[in-house]
Amino acid sequence: SHFKVICSPLEVEGRAHVSLSFEDVTSSREIRAMRSDFVANVSHELKTPITSILGFVETIQGPAANDEAARNRFLSLMAREAERMNRLVHDLLSLNRVEVDEKVRPMDRVALNALVSHTAEVLQPLAEARGISLKIELPDAPCHVTGHERQLVQVLRNLAENAIAYSPSGNEVRVRLTAPAYEVALHGNGVRLIIEDDGQGIDPVHIPRLTERFYRVDSHRSREVGGTGLGLAIVKHIITRHRGRLEIKSKLGIGSRFTAILPADTSAP
Ligand code: ADP
Repeated sequence: SHFKVICSPLEVEGRAHVSLSFEDVTSSREIRAMRSDFVANVSHELKTPITSILGFVETIQGPAANDEAARNRFLSLMAREAERMNRLVHDLLSLNRVEVDEKVRPMDRVALNALVSHTAEVLQPLAEARGISLKIELPDAPCHVTGHERQLVQVLRNLAENAIAYSPSGNEVRVRLTAPAYEVALHGNGVRLIIEDDGQGIDPVHIPRLTERFYRVDSHRSREVGGTGLGLAIVKHIITRHRGRLEIKSKLGIGSRFTAILPADTSAP
């Protein structure tokens, strides 16, 4: 979106103030263009697996009709393509859900220590399958944020799945939760959820665009690891809804660190 910032002097009870107002000036033409880009991207993402599946069907019906081993190989390839479409639709629905109820503020008190340890447990088999050791580090004191539990789980899942996917086998991925001391939290300092890897890293030129839908540094690699290109767009949306921010630090060949900084819930339990 584009905003016009209007800054005007103001006098209140004899004292000078400045008033700032924001006006959304995103034109309907821009919105139409954004929507049509999105539809073009989605169509392209779906077309690739559909084309492959149709090709495999043709091979199974033709040259591979009497070759059982070849038929089985093509069937597993078809299953893989169908899974890709399934993930894409799943991610599109998630993105849509976080956008649609953007105006409804999530208001549950969410205990992050338990959320992080449960989610890490769920991710453990995936990490093991890829030869990654997943370490978690939690603060001694329980820490809370105000928000939407399912969406916060999704933030952690998407970030940790990326860290696992973009690290070579044998590496370590660290998930750390740090909570500010109570007095510090009262001054608006946030809870940090850090996902850190020693994987391939990201060239700094790409970092500002990583949270755009379908933006990938290396499309081939992303497809290979089963990415949809929507994971970080979803993460960014959810964090923004929670009035937090996402920090990305990365060095090519050294590794990456994604930090979700969320306002701490300091209300009494
Ligand atoms: P994808 O489904 O392709 O992983 P994401 O939106 O989750 O899409 O991420 C966008 C891109 O950011 C990825 O394609 C990848 O190039 C890059 N990326 C994300 N996380 C990492 C990471 N931990 N290490 C290296 N590259 C990453």
